[in-house]
Amino acid sequence: SVRWGLIGASTIAREWMIDAIRANGGEIAAVMSSDAERARSIARDHDIPAGVDSLDALLGSGVDAVYISTTNDLHHAQTLAAARAGKHVLCEKPLDLTVAGARDMVAACREAGVTMGTNHHLRNAGTHRAMREAIVAGRIGKPLFARVFHAVYLPPHLQGWRIASPGAGAGVVMDITVHDADTLRFVLGDEPVEVAAFTQHGGMGAQGVEDGVMGTVRFASGVLAQFHDAFTTQYAGTGFEVHGTEGSLIGRDCMTQKPVGEVLLRTAAGEEHLPIDRVNLYERSVAAFHAAIRGEGRPAATGEDGVRSLAMAAAVLESAATGRAVGVDPQI
Ligand code: NDP
Repeated sequence: SVRWGLIGASTIAREWMIDAIRANGGEIAAVMSSDAERARSIARDHDIPAGVDSLDALLGSGVDAVYISTTNDLHHAQTLAAARAGKHVLCEKPLDLTVAGARDMVAACREAGVTMGTNHHLRNAGTHRAMREAIVAGRIGKPLFARVFHAVYLPPHLQGWRIASPGAGAGVVMDITVHDADTLRFVLGDEPVEVAAFTQHGGMGAQGVEDGVMGTVRFASGVLAQFHDAFTTQYAGTGFEVHGTEGSLIGRDCMTQKPVGEVLLRTAAGEEHLPIDRVNLYERSVAAFHAAIRGEGRPAATGEDGVRSLAMAAAVLESAATGRAVGVDPQI
């Protein structure tokens, strides 16, 4: 079984990833926090044998792979150190604060010969996989437009660095728009080329951190996609739609961590709910990562996918800052 080390005593590790690793037969050998007491307490609460407060201790503890879920500013240095130590890396999104930094991370893992994945959970969702398959099967004809509804309410226990620490990679674009970028690329099988966006300061973000955004993306095929992301709306509901020449796919309640949501296909033949695989998104992500380590296929989202989602998010921020449309250039 794969021996894992957790870098970061995070909420996402506690709520989803510890269980997802174990559900796939993975063993969690150690957890690292910058705070020794937090390391010990998460280790105790989750039956992890070792809680350590240094990266060297974690990387020296005989693990095969690391899951990095610290704040966004730390992913880069931790990935480089893990790659140097010969560990496979499953890293949280956004990979880094800059696209160039994310490219370095991918290069470091490639040079070290270790597997790298980005934990974009949404491409593992049965809803998004059903939409992608329907598009590939030609069921909506030629896709013309997509709409992403990902305006949510950041729960009080997460209203920390995300809304107040620009240096840690705060803001709704780095948090949520990167997921939209990955999901759009996955469902459409297409690449974003240009974005125009406006950000909003709706009262939750501090220190100039944006807490809402709306924008439009032009894809290589000509598809136009709208996205709407927020930390500040409690009742909007989420969704993902693709509208083509012969039909529309209307996904509801699908931009979420849970294996829920529905997809309606509407065509000249009428309306049909697509069958949805209700697999746990994070378990599927870890399963693909374990297989990739064994040399069987690739992670659900690779390091390159993480560079590409960040490149779109960076273009969104630049567009909002400059008032211009901005090209998306991952340079890979
Ligand atoms: P948290 O705020 O829960 O954890 C981030 C860091 O904050 C931890 O590594 C920890 O540092 C520190 N921390 C945790 N608890 C405390 C505390 N009580 N007091 C002080 N510091 C604390 O972050 P999230 O779990 O929400 O996010 C972590 C990463 O995962 C981010 O990159 C985020 O973008 C990503 N994420 C991805 C999701 C997905 O579905 N793919 C979903 C949610 C988040 P230390 O390790 O040093 O203890």
